Amino acid sequence: MHRMDPVSQPALIDGFGRRISYLRLSLTDRCDLRCSYCMPERMQFLPRAEVLSLEEAHRLALAFIDRGVTKIRLTGGEPLVRRDMIELVRALGRRLGSGLEELTLTTNGTQLRQFAPDLAEAGVERVNVSLDTLDRATFERLTRRDRLETVLDGIAAAREAGLKVKLNTVALKGVNEHEIPAMIEWAHGEGHDVTLIEVMPLGEVDGERIDHYLPLDAVRSELENRWTLTPSGHRTGGPSRYVNIAETGGRLGFITPLTGNFCEGCNRVRVTATGQLYACLGGREQVDLRAAVRSDDPDRALAEALDTAMAIKPERHHFAIREAGEAPALDRHMSVTGG
Ligand code: SAM
Ligand code: SF4
Repeated sequence: MHRMDPVSQPALIDGFGRRISYLRLSLTDRCDLRCSYCMPERMQFLPRAEVLSLEEAHRLALAFIDRGVTKIRLTGGEPLVRRDMIELVRALGRRLGSGLEELTLTTNGTQLRQFAPDLAEAGVERVNVSLDTLDRATFERLTRRDRLETVLDGIAAAREAGLKVKLNTVALKGVNEHEIPAMIEWAHGEGHDVTLIEVMPLGEVDGERIDHYLPLDAVRSELENRWTLTPSGHRTGGPSRYVNIAETGGRLGFITPLTGNFCEGCNRVRVTATGQLYACLGGREQVDLRAAVRSDDPDRALAEALDTAMAIKPERHHFAIREAGEAPALDRHMSVTGG
């Protein structure tokens, strides 16, 4: 789809010549699950006053669209637990075809039975659903909640509503590694693409992530022994690189921040639920968009803040899985930055 409105303000181009066209916007740091690699059981959530109002989030999103952002992914925490978030989805949906080309979200799926029809009606066409296992006991251990059936029902509801579903699966040594082929077979049988993700060292959790780190090159080799994998040119605007699997007839993506750096083609920035723009998921460079949106002249302040963000966006991330006992590379949880 082509843009209908001319870009009235300069496009967002960083210091390395990369054009920023993709915004990941977190609506909340809260969540109804407690995935063990993502957050501790007793996660301290932010005071509500620190979180952007939905009106502020909307204003921020429009500022990005005016600067040439064509794709927005809503995330969290769990975006669907934010009260009235569907109003924001509807408001942004009205910009589809007029600046915005794609509006999507990443969800754990627990609330999809309730919201899938509204999302589809607002113009959302695809959702990413995070699912790391099809085994009820493993799901409960991993997320600390017994909600597998609810998530599977949510995925079915999304499909019934006409949403395209992509599954995101974090590959975890000793947790779901033996289940990965079966999950791929199931997902492809249901018509869903799957993307495997390496666990990243973001924020303190209760256990040691090093225990569960599973490099995807090893997973890929094992899958290659089992099936015929051919590289696919398919792209979704994110860092995933895809292969087609002849035997299952489906597509499999790999997100490999640790074994294969994907920063060169980076086209995105992230905004947290408190309006902090992080120029890189793995870096500390940040700009306070909440201060800008709450200032006396928000339009000007936001334009300046976005220029600053482009100036500070780093060339690449520098995180790596640390040895046992070492602090995580970044003290921010993925649920805070927005996955
Ligand atoms: N709650 C929603 C969900 O789970 O899809 C959206 C937010 S969640 C933080 C987004 C994605 O980040 C999920 O696919 C989750 O598995 C992934 N994630 C969280 N912590 C991670 C980590 N430390 N390393 C790799 N992926 C992580
Ligand atoms: Fe919640 Fe998503 Fe983090 Fe799991 S990965 S705890 S569902 S925010």
